[in-house]
Amino acid sequence: MTFKEKIRKQAMEYSRGRYGPDSLNRFLQWTSILLVVLGVVTPYRWIIVLGFLGMIGVNFRMLSKNISQRRLENQKFQKIVAPIQKQLNIGKTQRKEWKTSRIVRCPHCKEALRLPKNKGKLRITCPHCKGTFEKRV
Ligand SMILES: [Zn+2]
Repeated sequence: MTFKEKIRKQAMEYSRGRYGPDSLNRFLQWTSILLVVLGVVTPYRWIIVLGFLGMIGVNFRMLSKNISQRRLENQKFQKIVAPIQKQLNIGKTQRKEWKTSRIVRCPHCKEALRLPKNKGKLRITCPHCKGTFEKRV
């Protein structure tokens, strides 16, 4: 067995039955790094301590053998983060759509309609009130 294989085998044995990384840990890891960087670039040096405490927490969670408890923590974290992620994704979709479409109000019922952009003059039938109008998009 080569030295490399020996190290790999030891690492595998060490990580057996341990929790490992999850989304909460990734979040904590990046937050900790951010805190350390903030502590370095700002006069508030004590922030560095928070960053290191966060990293200790990350290692504790990753190496923990209490897998069900760690899974529960991650589920709670996901529950908090899911609505925020959803909002961010909606924003992303809207930005993408802004390039390819535009929102026009129906002159009859004032309903907002999404039309493809750069199609020239369009004859539009409002799906809401069935009224028709022409619009250059
Ligand atoms: Zn309408």
